[in-house]
Amino acid sequence: MALSNSQYSKIMRDYEEKQNSARLLHDSRLSEVLRRVPEYKALDNEAIDASMEYARMTLLDSTGDSDRTLEALRDKVTRIADRKKQVLLKNGYPADYLEPVYSCPDCKDTGYIGTQKCHCFKQAIVDLLYSQSNIKEVLKKENFSTFRSDLYSRTDIDPVSNCSSYDLMNINLTRAKEFVAGFPASKENLFFSGTAGLGKTFLSHCIADELLKKGYTVLYLSAPELFDIMRKDYIPKKEGEGESSELGDYIMTCDLLIIDDLGSEHATEFTVSCLNICINERILAGHSTIISSNLMPYEINETYGERNFSRIAGLYTLYRFYGKDLRFVQKLTAV
Ligand SMILES: [Zn+2]
Repeated sequence: MALSNSQYSKIMRDYEEKQNSARLLHDSRLSEVLRRVPEYKALDNEAIDASMEYARMTLLDSTGDSDRTLEALRDKVTRIADRKKQVLLKNGYPADYLEPVYSCPDCKDTGYIGTQKCHCFKQAIVDLLYSQSNIKEVLKKENFSTFRSDLYSRTDIDPVSNCSSYDLMNINLTRAKEFVAGFPASKENLFFSGTAGLGKTFLSHCIADELLKKGYTVLYLSAPELFDIMRKDYIPKKEGEGESSELGDYIMTCDLLIIDDLGSEHATEFTVSCLNICINERILAGHSTIISSNLMPYEINETYGERNFSRIAGLYTLYRFYGKDLRFVQKLTAV
C-alpha cells in the first residue's frame, strides 16, 4: 500500500511541526535559564569563546603543531559542558533540561535514519491508513492504571479452570505485566480467548500502551484489516507482482503485532492461508504476536484449519476470559 503524495506530505509536515516545537521548547527553556541563572550565562559565554577559538585554530593551523592546544581546548569545552550540567542541577533543573526533546530520539523527528525510514515513520503510515489513527487517544483511557478487575464477578465460576471470573482476570493481568517485563527477549505469543465484552481488547491495549511507551513498535489491526493489507499488499509483493511496500513488511517486522477479533470475519481459504503465513513468519523472525478471539482454541481448528491450530496450541500462551459481558454489567451498575 503506497502512500499518496498528499499523505506523504502530511507525514513530513507532522515531522516539521515536531522539530519546530522541539526547537521552540529548547529556545524558551534556554532563555529562561539564561535570565534566571547568571552563572549559566557566564559559562555559556565561556563555551562560545572556547568553541570559536577551537574553530579558528583548526581552520588556520594545518601543520598539526598545535595538536596539544587543540586537545586542551576540546577538554575545556567538555569541562564547561559538565559544569553547565552541575549549575542546572544546583538551580533545581534536571541535568538534561536543555537537551532537545524529540518524540523519536532515534531519528530526531526527521523520519529517517540515513536513507532508511525510521520505525516511527512506519508507525505513522499505519496510524494514517488504519484504525489505530486514534489508538493513542484510546490508550489514554485504556491502560494498566485504568484497568478495573473489581468489575468481574467473584461468584461466577468458570467450569473449565474452576476459577471465578475475578480470579481469572487477575491471573491474566499479572501474566500480561510479566509479558511486558520480559518483552521482547521472551518472544512469547499470546492467545486471548473468550466471548465478547470481557476485556480482551482492553488488556491488549494495556500491553500496547506499555510497549509503545518503552519505544517498541506496535501494530494493532483487526483481523479483517490484517487480511486486507495482506491481500492488497503483502501477498502480491511476495509473489513478485506488487511494488515494494513498507506496510506489508511492517506486519512481519514490527515488535508486536496485535490481531484483534479473529473469527469475527468470514473465514475463507485465503484468510486461512494469510493467518498461517503471518503466524509462521513472525515466529521465524522471533517477533511476538497477540491474537484475541471469541473462538475457543479447538474452534480455531474448525475455522482456520489444523496448521493454524497446531501453531497456536503449541506456541501461544492461552489467556482464558470468562464471565458476563462487562459492557452489560457496567450499564446495570450505572443505573
Ligand atoms: Zn523516528
